[in-house]
Amino acid sequence: TISMVVIDAAGAMAAGTSTNGAAFKVPGRVGDGPIVGSGSYVDGDVGGCGATGDGDVMMRFLPCYQAVENLRRGMTPTEAAEDAVRRMLRKYPDVSSGIVVVNNKGEHGAAASGWTFSYSFRGGTMGATKVITIPPLKAGL
Ligand code: ASP
Repeated sequence: TISMVVIDAAGAMAAGTSTNGAAFKVPGRVGDGPIVGSGSYVDGDVGGCGATGDGDVMMRFLPCYQAVENLRRGMTPTEAAEDAVRRMLRKYPDVSSGIVVVNNKGEHGAAASGWTFSYSFRGGTMGATKVITIPPLKAGL
């Protein structure tokens, strides 16, 4: 899965996700990637989100929509991502997920479940891409 959230020089934002379906290559399966609010979501007024993981579970929660709405309500990107992942963990304690959230100031954060998750970030005057790795959240916390 390749998921991206971008901000251009004028401050416009976009987000998108593409996937081959990983382990779920069932003919005809649509998956979560193209579902707005699940695989990705953006509202330039607040920020954007990209997601990867067990799409058959994740698409039931629209985690990217949830995370962007969390930003709107004042959460940091990390808080917004963690809330979206915890909502899934409460119903599916074994779900594998990874959510990356970027607000419209370029601040970013992420949350994951079921696996150690890495994402990369580059912006502003950075001369190189930075890889950030986070541990999974645990169910029940
Ligand atoms: N979310 C993708 C899917 O279920 C898979 C992935 O992100 O690795 O199709």
